Amino acid sequence: MTTRTEQLRALSDEHSAHNYHPLPVVIAEAEGAWVTDVEGRRLLDMLAAYSAVNFGHRHPRLIAAARRQLERVTLVSRAFDHDQFGPFVAELAELAGKEMVLPMNSGAEAVETALKTARKWGYEVKGVPADRANIITFEGNFHGRTTTIISFSTDPDARNSYGPYTPGFRIVPYGDAQALAAAMDENTVGVLVEPIQGEAGVIVPPRGFLTAVRRLCTEHGALMIADEIQSGLGRTGATFAVEHEGVVPDVYVLGKALGGGILPVSAVVADADVLGVFKPGQHGSTFGGNPLACAVGREVIAMLRTGEYQERSRTLGEHMHRRLSALPGDVVREVRGRGLWAGVELNGKARPVSERLLELGVLAKETHETTLRLAPPLVISREDLDWALDRLEIALREF
Ligand SMILES: *Cc1c(COP(=O)(O)O)cnc(C)c1O
Repeated sequence: MTTRTEQLRALSDEHSAHNYHPLPVVIAEAEGAWVTDVEGRRLLDMLAAYSAVNFGHRHPRLIAAARRQLERVTLVSRAFDHDQFGPFVAELAELAGKEMVLPMNSGAEAVETALKTARKWGYEVKGVPADRANIITFEGNFHGRTTTIISFSTDPDARNSYGPYTPGFRIVPYGDAQALAAAMDENTVGVLVEPIQGEAGVIVPPRGFLTAVRRLCTEHGALMIADEIQSGLGRTGATFAVEHEGVVPDVYVLGKALGGGILPVSAVVADADVLGVFKPGQHGSTFGGNPLACAVGREVIAMLRTGEYQERSRTLGEHMHRRLSALPGDVVREVRGRGLWAGVELNGKARPVSERLLELGVLAKETHETTLRLAPPLVISREDLDWALDRLEIALREF
């Protein structure tokens, strides 16, 4: 007899491009940190859609904000203003301590927007000769899937067979301030950096690295662009991960949790001397800054202003890291991360562990071959977190 799960997976197997390798589970409902699959199994979500579900599934405040907006107006395009737009950009700018916001939808679009901003700023403000601008990025980076962004990826899966590649990028080792200094010159318009590399396996750079990036950008008159799409909005125990080093970038790139787990909302946030380079018609998006996105985004910002989620991530994160570092050294090589975010580096393949965790009722996913990434919703209870970590111990003991 075929199960509902098997039936549905056969459909997606046959008709969906195979650009993902999902675990054998089909989710039907979710609330808070828990999801229910089509067989009625309850599973604890320890991935939170790579941080897009920081506030848990269907947070009542976010659902209420979305419902209210659904009853009013959902899309007008930027040809007209709507009453959620001004407040959204003002509130997001204030949260980041900047002056201006350029809203987009997906994270990749916001990164593209930041790259265009840096180039345009470089030519029109810094005075770089036409088409000579360079932007520095780091080995192991993940910034999205567009042709330009994968042009500076160092992951063969992300990059191969998509050429010809967009020129104008230099790649240096992550965490290496000396290599960065050597790569920068008078035509460097930006340094694009993840404060913690998520997709690469939750790689935390050496202490002082982000401070060095800030200093080098200032010295060379280049924009420090922090991609906080995954690390930001509470994930590491602070609103932005750069705060752990007291660093203020010129440009924040935000996404994922900004949409409250309801819809894609992304943004570039910077001061007016940077984002002011755009004039009407020079950049845009049909859905960027739409009323529903702004209403949900405003509620996300209001929730972050309480500091409650950052605090949960900090204290529960300490607890999680304490437990993870006590895992047996013969199976766990290293534990990295900050707040409720961890890359557990195993001595073997991570896929069988995430498959075993699924059987034990825990949703987690490997990244690359040997890393298990843990990023539970920040609303997870301590009891549920411990329950998941107990199951991780069981799963690891078997391997
Ligand atoms: C997820 C992610 C992106 C891309 O966001 P999409 O919404 O998937 O396009 C970019 N940068 C970082 C750091 C991410 O984690």
